[in-house]
Amino acid sequence: MLIDIHCHANLYLALHQIVKEADNLGVAKIIAVGMSATSLERVLEISDHFDLLYPALGIHPEEASINKSLESQLDSIETLIRDNRNKICAIGEIGLDHHFVKNEECYPLQNKVFETMLMLAQELELPVNLHTKGAEKLVFDTLPSFNIPNVNIHWYSGPENYMKVGIDRGYYFSITPAISYSPAVKNVAKIIDKDHLLLESDGPVEYSGQIGTPAMIRSVLNTISKLKNISSDELEQQIEENTRLVFPKIF
Ligand SMILES: [Zn+2]
Repeated sequence: MLIDIHCHANLYLALHQIVKEADNLGVAKIIAVGMSATSLERVLEISDHFDLLYPALGIHPEEASINKSLESQLDSIETLIRDNRNKICAIGEIGLDHHFVKNEECYPLQNKVFETMLMLAQELELPVNLHTKGAEKLVFDTLPSFNIPNVNIHWYSGPENYMKVGIDRGYYFSITPAISYSPAVKNVAKIIDKDHLLLESDGPVEYSGQIGTPAMIRSVLNTISKLKNISSDELEQQIEENTRLVFPKIF
């Protein structure tokens, strides 16, 4: 069984088709991650509609620079997440971004939102799905202040020294279809032990001009299998076990 642990499923126009295609390739579960105040209800709605979808709720770090009302909406976002604690399997996508978000004036709000989300993960005893782009040090420095059941670092492409810190702390790393062309992603898949790897599409993000879909994680698995010289059957089973440990609520 393959599980896509990070997909922006609410953003697809033809979600029926996307889910069917994933199902045909043995993708049995897809975690639909939220990212903005306006997407959270939609993530819950589509997860009610499709058996394969499981919702995670959170606010993406780029929201702090896009949504001018975010700070005033934070209380109601917290309430929505608490009210749906039984439905959701994780808090995500959350984190910090200093790479795409260059305007430093947004950083204090990013931090505030991130810490609020980590506090919720601690309170609700849920794992987190983390974005760390360009802010790896700050994310890794912030995490030990919170008691969180499990941490997944999504699409890691930062410095190797922080990746090592993550390994020492037992964090999980999810690999995207960018493994087909990105040396940084290949390196993560090579270095991280098979018992700390997960798979994700981050769809509908584009890969070499092609819209990312959950079905693509089949070829991500095959690429990692060649890279690590482990049979794809064995790796698939191992990654399923890892996913059971990190996101027990989707099983
Ligand atoms: Zn994402």
